[in-house]
Amino acid sequence: MAKRIVIIGAGLAGTTAAREFSERGQAVTLVDPAAGETSERPPLSKHLFDDSRYHLPFHLKSGELITFVRDRATEITLAEAAAQSQQAGPTSADSIAGTVHLVTGERLDFTHCILATGMEANRPEIPDYPDALPVYNLAEAEWIREFVAESDGPLNVGVLGSGYLGMEVATSAVAAGHEATVYLRGDEPLRKQLSAPVRQALFERHKDAGVKFVAHTSSPDEIQANTHNLFVTSVGARPALIPIDGDRPAEAWEVNEKLATSHAGIWAAGDCALLTAGPYALDHPWACEPVAESHGKYLAEQLTGTTEEAEEPWRDVPWHWSFQGPEKVFTAGLTSPDATDTIIRHDPSGRKFQVFHFDGPSPDAALIGVETLNWPPMQAAARRVLAGNNKPSRAQIDDPEFDFKAHSRL
Ligand SMILES: Cc1cc2nc3c(=O)[nH]c(=O)nc-3n(C[C@H](O)[C@H](O)[C@H](O)COP(=O)(O)OP(=O)(O)OC[C@H]3O[C@@H](n4cnc5c(N)ncnc54)[C@H](O)[C@@H]3O)c2cc1C
Repeated sequence: MAKRIVIIGAGLAGTTAAREFSERGQAVTLVDPAAGETSERPPLSKHLFDDSRYHLPFHLKSGELITFVRDRATEITLAEAAAQSQQAGPTSADSIAGTVHLVTGERLDFTHCILATGMEANRPEIPDYPDALPVYNLAEAEWIREFVAESDGPLNVGVLGSGYLGMEVATSAVAAGHEATVYLRGDEPLRKQLSAPVRQALFERHKDAGVKFVAHTSSPDEIQANTHNLFVTSVGARPALIPIDGDRPAEAWEVNEKLATSHAGIWAAGDCALLTAGPYALDHPWACEPVAESHGKYLAEQLTGTTEEAEEPWRDVPWHWSFQGPEKVFTAGLTSPDATDTIIRHDPSGRKFQVFHFDGPSPDAALIGVETLNWPPMQAAARRVLAGNNKPSRAQIDDPEFDFKAHSRL
């Protein structure tokens, strides 16, 4: 029988997969209450206080090969024939592997299902700021932008949480002439995201720009009342997970190097997937745009391609960017916030630099990841190098005469 492909979630991973499948002549059904109207998330946290474009729609249209089902999936049941594990690869026979159940009671049988349901923000309550909200979706960003537009004069913005999104909100507020205070659990921001040299440089620059920090805030109850007229929470997010035959994992859908879950006929992509094998296996979802997009493309190739293509693992170099006011920070490949045996290379001005991460301390250790502060062309070089077969050794990176950019073009 013909493949019946159902994609749950029309964010970046699901939309990309649907577009790629249709370009390959394969029909798909895309399930999402907002199918056809979804947009990119990254601009939301960066443009709350300025006039730049914050709403970048994906522009996917339904048609002969793309069917939108504007509904929410509640669970998946597996067909009996599909009970065995498929971690070895896609099913060879395109038989019905299971059924997606929707809120409206409708059911969709599938031969192949892609879970692309993304994440949902944690929503802590701040006792003295009952209107506090995260900025995770378009409706939240629109609410905040309207509030900002209707306010007379500068705002005093409170932000709980000091990860990427919290820092983007606080720094963009200050850049637009507002006051911002970040409440954080530890004593420095971005502790879980970036290595010490990068996060410390950003901490200093954000303080110099006027962002205030209240360290060691262990509970929202400690946040002073009557101080802020806008409060944004940013304390993480967790994958949105639909149970499969009653099974809902504690953290995310674990997938192998081909993005297959342990359930026959079901794959996971983007923020709801946790990669357990392959060169970019990690103990949490990658949760970044380039990975979600690459997962979507990969699965369309994987499920419609030749046998040779179907053998290929997912291996695009993961990367991330975060624009925090005027500061632009990037990561590429495997970087760790706890790494200590890194090598730092500065540009002559000293304001731009890169931190190189290796798989060990020896001079011939392989380069596995790079962080880049305010140096976009060198981030591009890092991505080229990490994607290629000519990675420099630790000894080369340590050599001041070594030209990393030139090497990236070899
Ligand atoms: C504010 C913000 C800023 C960001 N900034 C950056 C950045 O600067 N750089 C970067 O690399 N990454 C950034 N990210 C992360 C990036 O946006 C995500 O990694 C990416 O959107 C993940 O894509 P996805 O398709 O997996 O999930 P999403 O884009 O979250 O899409 C998931 C979709 O699934 C749908 N869905 C969920 N449950 C169901 C269900 N039961 N039934 C049907 N549909 C369902 C949702 O409605 C949603 O449309 C940011 C994220 C946010 C929230």
